[in-house]
Amino acid sequence: ETAVLEQIEETIKEKNVELLHLQFVDIEGILKHITVTSEQLEDVVEGKMMFDGSSITGFSPINKSDLYLQPDLATFAVLPWTVEEGYSEARFLCSVKNPDGTLFEGDTRNVLKKTMERAADKGFTISVGPELEFFLFKTDENGYATRELGDKAGYFEPSPHDLGERVRLEIYRALKALGFTIEASHHEVAEGQHELSFKYADALTAADRSTTYKWVVKTIAKKFGLHATFMPKPVFGINGSGMHVNMSFFEGSENAFFDPSDELQLSEKAYQFIAGLLENVKSFAAVTNPLVNSYKRLVPGYEAPCYLAWSASNRSALIRIPAKKGLATRVELRCPDPSANPYLTFAVIASAGLDGIEKGLEAPAPINEDIFHMTEERKAELGIDNLPGSLKEAISELESSEFAYKALGGHVYNEYVSLKKAEWDSYRTAVHSWEIENYQSKF
Ligand code: GLN
Ligand code: MG
Ligand code: MG
Ligand code: MG
Repeated sequence: ETAVLEQIEETIKEKNVELLHLQFVDIEGILKHITVTSEQLEDVVEGKMMFDGSSITGFSPINKSDLYLQPDLATFAVLPWTVEEGYSEARFLCSVKNPDGTLFEGDTRNVLKKTMERAADKGFTISVGPELEFFLFKTDENGYATRELGDKAGYFEPSPHDLGERVRLEIYRALKALGFTIEASHHEVAEGQHELSFKYADALTAADRSTTYKWVVKTIAKKFGLHATFMPKPVFGINGSGMHVNMSFFEGSENAFFDPSDELQLSEKAYQFIAGLLENVKSFAAVTNPLVNSYKRLVPGYEAPCYLAWSASNRSALIRIPAKKGLATRVELRCPDPSANPYLTFAVIASAGLDGIEKGLEAPAPINEDIFHMTEERKAELGIDNLPGSLKEAISELESSEFAYKALGGHVYNEYVSLKKAEWDSYRTAVHSWEIENYQSKF
């Protein structure tokens, strides 16, 4: 700890860090920060920075609003795009504490930490590799997003069609400077859609990186006059953006999901993990797919799942087992989208998997047929259920789920349910352009 702190002090001197941003996320995973000067480092590290929690979505009531920020020293980073001659800025990601020094249970970062402790009690560390896709839109003269996509290229297409190559290069450089290992960068299937994938890590690091990634992508895109969005389905009729979550449990240095003697090289725990996901996914969909718009991505034909099934290779299934085995053995859950709070997302997925292992649940047979083109009769025959079809359905599942209450903790659960209900109500009562187009002249 003191060695880490000395290193930070040295970097602050060496890089002339003038400002420190103390960052955390609200219940939706939206990044927030308060800025101090680097002379305040000592107080900051001692957790003396107070803020008003009643103005943060999902945090505390007005009568108990004082909260404190405890920086996580491992997340200290100089922000590459702020560096000038003799000047730079840095950030810490923070945990939120109550005035009495205990962890604030409304902080979703703390929720994930609790899940990791629960896994550790069973001897597991949680390893996560998320894949966040995004769209680039052109901006207007005021810098606001337009509806015009950044390019017309498709999957893996190079320049001159892919106009995002230069932006992705700068995103790559910034992420690398922030300590990411980038595995690949490419144009995605839809026009204007992109992805940079980064190496898996422990669940908290992976969630911190997902949060940082979204911020960096938006920040760098802006420098190119573009607006990056992680909205799941920004354009009707083309692919939406997913946040596939690859997860495995490790026992020491061994991947607990790998068993070379099994047909698919999966261990019994891996099958139980899969069973736990299938059992609980409907009740946590409101977390992994949190927006009204999320459910417009989960429709057949766009590489996004809508049915509860798993398979070794099938991209129409909800759960896929990527080909890489051994230490890289993992389960890929394909429903989450990048508008989700990554801390809560990884917490509910890991909790569901742990439930499967603890209860010794049995996974159904894998489905290797293309489910998008299956008849209703065939689906019924195979007992294939659907994901919730709307945020409304997902909220109903969440509201009656004891699993979700336990996985999220009472504070986050209650705040989250009321936030989502209000969101649905606002959508339900709004008059949409679809209604105007279809009804106004006809009736
Ligand atoms: N965009 C797809 C989704 O919504 C995924 C496509 C891919 O990664 N090949 O999940
Ligand atoms: Mg990918
Ligand atoms: Mg992808
Ligand atoms: Mg994937």
